[in-house]
Amino acid sequence: MESADVVIAGGGIMGCALAYQLARRKVDVVLLERETLGSQSTGKCAGGVRQQFSTEPNVRLQRMSVKMLEAFEQDTGHPADFHQIGYLFLFTQPQQVEDFRHNMDMWHRVGLTEARWVDPAEAAKMVPILNVDDVIGCTFCPTDGIASPNDVTSGYVSAARGLGARLKERVEVTGIDVASGRVQGVRTSAGDIATRMIVNCAGAWAASIGRLAGLEIPVLPYRRHIAVTGTFPALPRTTPMTVDFRTSLYFHPEGDGVLIGMSDRAEPSGFVTDVNWEFL
Ligand SMILES: Cc1cc2nc3c(=O)[nH]c(=O)nc-3n(C[C@H](O)[C@H](O)[C@H](O)COP(=O)(O)OP(=O)(O)OC[C@H]3O[C@@H](n4cnc5c(N)ncnc54)[C@H](O)[C@@H]3O)c2cc1C
Repeated sequence: MESADVVIAGGGIMGCALAYQLARRKVDVVLLERETLGSQSTGKCAGGVRQQFSTEPNVRLQRMSVKMLEAFEQDTGHPADFHQIGYLFLFTQPQQVEDFRHNMDMWHRVGLTEARWVDPAEAAKMVPILNVDDVIGCTFCPTDGIASPNDVTSGYVSAARGLGARLKERVEVTGIDVASGRVQGVRTSAGDIATRMIVNCAGAWAASIGRLAGLEIPVLPYRRHIAVTGTFPALPRTTPMTVDFRTSLYFHPEGDGVLIGMSDRAEPSGFVTDVNWEFL
C-alpha cells in the first residue's frame, strides 16, 4: 500500500503551497486533488494581496505572505507576477473612518508602517476615474497588490514536484480511517494510502472532508462574481486595487483591461458557480 508522512486533501493554493513547504523540509508528502490543480476557487480568484485587515493575526500573516511573494521567484524558481500597486480603501461613512483609525494604529504597531491615510483629493489623483464626492477618507498601503493565482499555484506545484512531493490530479479523498483518536489512513478513488496525518485543504469543501473524520467544520460556500473588461486605457496598470468599503465593489488593472468584483451579501450559501447576470 502507498504511504506518506502527510496527505493533503485539496490542490488549490493552500494545498499546493503546503506541499511545497513540507517538501522543502524533507517531509514525504502526497497531495490529492479530485479535479485539476488550482482549478476551483484559486483559479477563479481576483489575485488581490492585501495586509490591511482588522485583526492582528491576519495582518501578521499577510505581512509574511507579502514577503513570501516578494521572494517567490528566488525561492521557487518561478514567477508570481506580483505587482505592488497598493490597495486603496474608500470610506463614505464616519463609522468606517473611526474603525480604520483603530486599524491604522494596530497596523503601525505590528510594523505595517507604510500604510497611511489618503484624502479624497489625493485618491482622485491616484485613480482619476473615481468620483470622490461622497468619500470622506481613504487608507492606502503601497506594498499590497495583485499576483497571478495561476502562476503562484503552478510555481508551487513545479517546485514541490521537483523536491519529490507527489501531487495527484483526479484523485478524490473518499474516506479517512481513524482509530484511537488518530488518523491511520486515507481512502481515495485510486486506492488507500497509509498515513498518520491528513491536512484538510479542501477550501469550500472543507466541511465534507471533516465529516469523513467525524468532525463538523463550520465552513460554508458562497458564490462570488468578477468580470473582466477589454482594453480600458483610462485605468493604467499602475492603478491601485481600489475598494469601495460600503458596497464591497472593487477593481484593479488586469492586463490592459479592468477586473471588477463585488459580493452579493444577500446571496445564501450554496455550491452555485454559474453567473447571476442580473446581479452582474
Ligand atoms: C471571484 C473570487 C474572487 C476572489 N478574490 C480574491 C482575492 O482577490 N484575494 C484573495 O486572497 N482571495 C480571493 N478569493 C478567495 C480565494 O480564491 C480563496 O480563498 C482561495 O483560492 C482558497 O484556496 P483553497 O486552496 O483553500 O481552495 P480551492 O482553490 O477551492 O482548493 C480546494 C480544492 O479541494 C479540492 N477538493 C474538494 N474536495 C475534495 C476531495 N474530497 N478530494 C480531493 N480534492 C478535493 C477541490 O477540487 C479544490 O480544488 C476570491 C475567490 C473568488 C471565487
